[in-house]
Amino acid sequence: MSEVPERTRGVIALRAESCTSCMLCVRECPDWCIELDSHKETVPPETERGRPRVVAVLDRFAIDYGLCMWCGICVEVCPFDALFWAPTHDHAVPDARQLVHERDVLGLWLADVPGLAEGNVHDGPGVGQDSDPL
Ligand code: SF4
Ligand code: SF4
Repeated sequence: MSEVPERTRGVIALRAESCTSCMLCVRECPDWCIELDSHKETVPPETERGRPRVVAVLDRFAIDYGLCMWCGICVEVCPFDALFWAPTHDHAVPDARQLVHERDVLGLWLADVPGLAEGNVHDGPGVGQDSDPL
């Protein structure tokens, strides 16, 4: 990674295990550049007297950096700390269609998020938590 200030808005990193597919970032993005697919699964009760719950499971999460205007709304509205700014900026490509980055690439950028490795953000809800933040 090149030397830039830590707070530089380079790219948005995704911690997929914290994402509940709540769609808040998708709906709030003014450019509609986040693509998300998920499906519902029923998980068994956690206790003997509990009931099965339906949870959303993330299938696809992608950001089109050809459309993104780096406003940061998606990072701010995510209620589960799944999105982070990383100062990475060396992701230029020769074809604009290659600016759609999928969850595997967004996940790699987590390593560049300042302070994340030290754990100064709280853990997300993880798999099996309710997907509706409201
Ligand atoms: S930074 Fe703004 S434009 Fe880019 S994906 Fe997030 S909400 Fe959309
Ligand atoms: S707002 Fe956060 S938890 Fe909800 S879909 Fe977007 S990244 Fe996932």
